[in-house]
Amino acid sequence: MAIDKVKLAEKISSAGKTVTPQRITIFRALELVGEPITAYELRDLTNSRSDESFNISTIYRVLDFWVELGLIHKIESANKFVVCKDEYRDHIHVLQHCTSCQKIEEHREISRLLKMPLSSTFKAHKNQVIEIQGQCGNCQDLITNLKP
Ligand SMILES: [Zn+2]
Ligand SMILES: [Zn+2]
Repeated sequence: MAIDKVKLAEKISSAGKTVTPQRITIFRALELVGEPITAYELRDLTNSRSDESFNISTIYRVLDFWVELGLIHKIESANKFVVCKDEYRDHIHVLQHCTSCQKIEEHREISRLLKMPLSSTFKAHKNQVIEIQGQCGNCQDLITNLKP
């Protein structure tokens, strides 16, 4: 999915942050992959495609920047990162994580529901990620077909 640059820029300026070429380069590299990868994989990928050479602490710092903005999600259980597939609004992001093929799907409908207050007095922090582990349709089919 192509990134909506307008929304991205709005989001960043409203948070008082600036987008440096470095941040863009690293974001684009992850966006291109389209699936969750580790910071080390992202570093190798970025360095193989750009003239610059990023070290791992730079990669982590830049990832932190995007994670804080909610444009990149960290999958805690796998220690991997993926670009947000929703609309980058401030809500809770629900990720369905297939533990067989490692595919991540962002579940927009549940995410929307969670935009409502959890209780009248509780205000959730922005851009949190809820990870639901399971098996995607493809992997379930594979397993069913393997059975005699
Ligand atoms: Zn998201
Ligand atoms: Zn799967």
